[in-house]
Parts: sequence; structure tokens; C-alpha cells
Amino acid sequence: MCFACQSCETNYVEAPSEARVYSYTVVRHASHPAVEKMLPYVVAVVDFPDMPGVRLITNLTDIDSKKVSIGMRCTLWWDDIGDGMFLPRFRPLDAVTSAA
Ligand SMILES: [Zn+2]
Repeated sequence: MCFACQSCETNYVEAPSEARVYSYTVVRHASHPAVEKMLPYVVAVVDFPDMPGVRLITNLTDIDSKKVSIGMRCTLWWDDIGDGMFLPRFRPLDAVTSAA
């Protein structure tokens, strides 16, 4: 529902692949055994300079968690987690890395 006009008419719009870190936290404790080998990992809220007002909760990958900063530019990549499912995650825009 739209917070401004309470309309329920919605539609899907593709977000830009470039985003910025709006906020983040570093997870150091495994709340489930499945994530234990990923520790520490970064949960980030990203926003999109080209799509004001839209934010997404995601993971920031391919970076030392100590080097994450608010406002850092990042870019989308799709993580193939199996069974035909893909999760949108982000990595630093300027990173010269391969997919983790
Ligand atoms: Zn509205």
C-alpha cells in the first residue's frame, strides 16, 4: 500500500543495478548452522541514486567487513543458491573480484 495516498494499485519496476550502502551491520554469530561458514557477513540496506525512495535489504559481498562504509557505491550480482533460485546481492562497484 502506498504510504502517501493509500492506493493498492502497484506494479513492478526494474531497479537500477547500481546502489549505495544506506546502512549495514556485520553478522558474527550464526543464528542458523547454514550460515556458519559465511561468518562474518554483511547485511546491508542499499538505496538507488537513480530511484529515490527505494531501499533493499541485501548482503554486501566481496569485501572485508571492516572496509564497508555508508554511502559506498555497489553493484548487483545474482547469487545462484540452487534449485533454480537466485538472490540479489551487492558488491563494491570498484572491486576487481570474481564471484564468491
Ligand atoms: Zn500513492
